[in-house]
Amino acid sequence: MSCHSPIDGSRIAVIAACGPEDVEEAVAVARRAFESGIWRNLPPSERKLRLMAFAEEIESRSEELSRLETLDMGKPIRNVRAVDLPETVKTFRYYAEALDKIYDEIGSSPADAVSMIVREPLGVVAAITPWNYPLMLAAWKIAPALAAGNSVILKPAEQASLTALWLGELAALAGIPDGVFGVLPGDGEVVGKALCLHDDVDGVAFTGSTTVGKQVMGYAGQSNLKRVALECGGKSPQIIFADCLDLDAAAEAAAWGFLYDQGQNCTAGSRLLVEETISEDFLAQVASIVAGIAPGNPLDEDTVFGAIVDAEQMNTILDYVDAGEQEGAVTVSRGGRALAETGGYYLEPTVFGGVDPSMTIAREEIFGPVLSTFTFRNFDEAMKLANDSAYGLAAGVWTRDIDKAHRAVRTVRAGTVWLNCWDESDITTPFGGFKQSGIGRDRSLHAFDKYTELKTVWLALGSPA
Ligand code: NAD
Repeated sequence: MSCHSPIDGSRIAVIAACGPEDVEEAVAVARRAFESGIWRNLPPSERKLRLMAFAEEIESRSEELSRLETLDMGKPIRNVRAVDLPETVKTFRYYAEALDKIYDEIGSSPADAVSMIVREPLGVVAAITPWNYPLMLAAWKIAPALAAGNSVILKPAEQASLTALWLGELAALAGIPDGVFGVLPGDGEVVGKALCLHDDVDGVAFTGSTTVGKQVMGYAGQSNLKRVALECGGKSPQIIFADCLDLDAAAEAAAWGFLYDQGQNCTAGSRLLVEETISEDFLAQVASIVAGIAPGNPLDEDTVFGAIVDAEQMNTILDYVDAGEQEGAVTVSRGGRALAETGGYYLEPTVFGGVDPSMTIAREEIFGPVLSTFTFRNFDEAMKLANDSAYGLAAGVWTRDIDKAHRAVRTVRAGTVWLNCWDESDITTPFGGFKQSGIGRDRSLHAFDKYTELKTVWLALGSPA
């Protein structure tokens, strides 16, 4: 499998495209490791040390991993250094720290019995990940799954597998036993599908599109009814009320909400909902911020807006821009291809106004730097627009009215609601979606639910001799 850099289209590596026989072998090895107890039966304090060592190995190569991530998928290196790498390291440390501090439960049993509710690892877990945060999203799955005692097989996205492959080596250096963690690069339709259909895989933790997420559920149903956790797409609204305390901050958030990582972000604030009385001025302010953003080489430290992952994704985004125009949205600024002479895949951002909820750009996840703006007249209309989506990953609400803010929190169907901010979070808070944005949560202690089975033990007490 050839790996091309979106920075200039050049070939940067050739890696294995695994096939069904590799999946068989990887699952068999992972199963043997699990059954042997070599990992899950280690004292928790020892598993913790090895996961800490895994974090150290990653941290000590942060700079090389950052460069590789940027080279492979095109996001600005400053973002990788500031977010992806530190968050990856933190994630391993968080679950390493957590694993020997979580206790099982004793039930409220009658006097002649003791009931215990204990957690056990699922067994063999397949982690299937997308290309937009290759390391960080892999860590969100691998770290809690390993901490819980599972064997884990990581299937990275075809477009960006290189840092994931490195993780395999770093795990070995950190003392994760052979067979407990493996990386299987390859085609989703081949490797991903085979893992999801495998009767000896006990759970799949998937992050990717809703379309593929639905297929993953189907594969689980066709095979062994394995546990399925899905982190899927989004079409998140940023809702700006006229009484917003800081409209400058809201405009910055509205712009960067759809520009960050070139809009290739599951939580991209791709729907901007603005109260009618301020909509003209607010949209002009957002447009002027956007006008100051031009794509550049993501390896350049000053670049804030990098490349689109590949030509296919770039063309998909351009098709959506065409659809927006054809369906009658108002083009506030139209982004075309840029820096074509580099051989890379660069787009300028696009801002649409006057978007109608029935338009394609209002309904479908674009996964690129395209903003669809709507206006509303009152709270109820804002909430109706916000919830008029198949997705429910995140939402932002900007208002100084605390009652309105809380009413919005209760009304909006989304896994995360940001009040007077956007995209703030850390490993301590759960992340995931309502509706077709997914099932289950990454991050926080709740992530352990995905990687553990609950077992009830009922002990009948005999009479003392
Ligand atoms: P994708 O669905 O095309 O691919 C995701 C992964 O699934 C890849 O590893 C791919 O190889 C694999 N895959 C493809 N077909 C498969 C099949 N038939 N069976 C099993 N696996 C298969 O998604 P993508 O283009 O890599 O990523 C973009 C999508 O990911 C967007 O929809 C985005 O919103 C979503 N995403 C969601 C979150 C979240 O946490 N909710 C985070 C990041 C990205």
